[in-house]
Amino acid sequence: MIKANNVHKYFGKLEVLKGIDMEVHPGEVVVLVGVSGSGKSTLLRCLNFLELTNEGTITIDGKKVNQKKDNLAKVRAEVGMVFQHFNLFPHKTVLENVMEAPLMVKKMEKSKVKTMALDILEKVGLSDKADVYPNKLSGGQKQRVAIARALAMEPKALLFDEPTSALDPELVGEVLQVMKDLANEGMTMVVVTHEMKFAKEVADRVIMLNEGVIIEDADPDTFFNHSKNERTRQFLEMVN
Ligand code: ADP
Ligand code: MG
Repeated sequence: MIKANNVHKYFGKLEVLKGIDMEVHPGEVVVLVGVSGSGKSTLLRCLNFLELTNEGTITIDGKKVNQKKDNLAKVRAEVGMVFQHFNLFPHKTVLENVMEAPLMVKKMEKSKVKTMALDILEKVGLSDKADVYPNKLSGGQKQRVAIARALAMEPKALLFDEPTSALDPELVGEVLQVMKDLANEGMTMVVVTHEMKFAKEVADRVIMLNEGVIIEDADPDTFFNHSKNERTRQFLEMVN
């Protein structure tokens, strides 16, 4: 579903991604870990073209994306992204937030979008909040709206960048549960998170990034229990 080949990314002279090769198969959940500054967010942003790569290629659903010629808004609609900070539209209701992109970007018909949006809100457990404004929601509810908003574009894959890092501890579980449900339904996902329990339970693979290089790409059991990589072990000691 997503394939990165020899991806390099520079910010000025700083090389942040140093030749990333990775593949995410349909229905797979890949958890991406690494210390702060290792390039996790940059990699996600490259995978949905919020950042352009300096070298290498990215293939989405079998189609190699041409950064210069292709309609990147369209590619972005195929690979949704959920951020640490939810950025909901404050002057729109929950339902309107979820309906916005399909209406504006996909130009879908309003009644169809509304039916779909209500379905999705039910899925993330927020049917009763459809007509509420974001400032009346908890952080966990806001993040579930953000996930609903991404789902409304009917993406082929979803990228999550530390979706629970800004939440109070008691609100983390409800967001992880929604993500787990999505994983069980077969959504293709790449998740940057420090929630190692989630990684152990949900991930098909764990990828460890260090200074812009993938130093480990393994199934959770191997990663958590049998890694021979010194950096991985240091990382695990730090987060556990
Ligand atoms: P992570 O998400 O793993 O913490 P990032 O991808 O955010 O790491 O950052 C990787 C490196 O790239 C860091 O050194 C960071 O300072 C740098 N960086 C990220 N975004 C930018 C930017 N827009 N301009 C310049 N440097 C950046
Ligand atoms: Mg980051």
